[in-house]
Amino acid sequence: MFQAIRERLNQGHRTMAFPDGPAPALPDRFRGLPILDQSKCPGGCSECVSACPTDAISQTADALQVDLGRCLFCTDCMEACPEGAVGFSNSYPLATSRREDLIFSGRELELAKALNAKTLKLFGRSLKLRQVSAGGCNGCESDVNVLNTVVFDLGRFGIKFVASPRHADGLLITGPITKNMRLALEKTYAAVATPKIVIAVGACAISGGPFAGLPDQSGGVEGILPIDLYVPGCPPHPMTILDGLLRLLDRLGSHGAASSPK
Ligand code: SF4
Repeated sequence: MFQAIRERLNQGHRTMAFPDGPAPALPDRFRGLPILDQSKCPGGCSECVSACPTDAISQTADALQVDLGRCLFCTDCMEACPEGAVGFSNSYPLATSRREDLIFSGRELELAKALNAKTLKLFGRSLKLRQVSAGGCNGCESDVNVLNTVVFDLGRFGIKFVASPRHADGLLITGPITKNMRLALEKTYAAVATPKIVIAVGACAISGGPFAGLPDQSGGVEGILPIDLYVPGCPPHPMTILDGLLRLLDRLGSHGAASSPK
């Protein structure tokens, strides 16, 4: 027992300071918001477009565009570009309120807005979510799960996952919505009392990801349920998911700084 206490004291406080302090340093391998340098792409060779496995990157006459809702952050486009016009930053805030805001052409990303005042009053201090994996590979599910560890400690924001949709204020959905899971998803959504919110996490839930176009899936939640928060990535880093959730609940200031619970 003394050994356990000593170990506990040695470990100290493990929960990150974010959002009251700096965000944790992300690993060098983390790939966040793309960097698109049109000036290095005057001819438009389209090598990046050909390399992309999900048709996420496109090239118009004067702009490269990445659909973050389709992007797997695989960097194939970066490696294919002979001019170095495509890169990836380590900027993790990527969640948006609208699907169209995920079409990124190198300018500022329109990040997620807070829920409307009435809904925020209900969920701002206490949000219970039912997670539905509708054909996910467990990548997004794992990174959502990480939020419940002592490092992220999602519960300190009043956000908790619950087993029953009857106890939930909304759904957090992963996976491309396979044919076999669609009815289950619709029934789960129906079981949540109104008002309710829907959060689509990962490229699959937003667009079908690498499965888009295949007959046994629906290409994501779009067109099935109304979506309040889009969290891109394959899978999204836990910081991207946490940042999106806190923006939705208006728990980050206008500059990403901390704000006290309202
Ligand atoms: S990083 Fe995204 S845009 Fe680039 S090739 Fe991979 S999926 Fe396509």
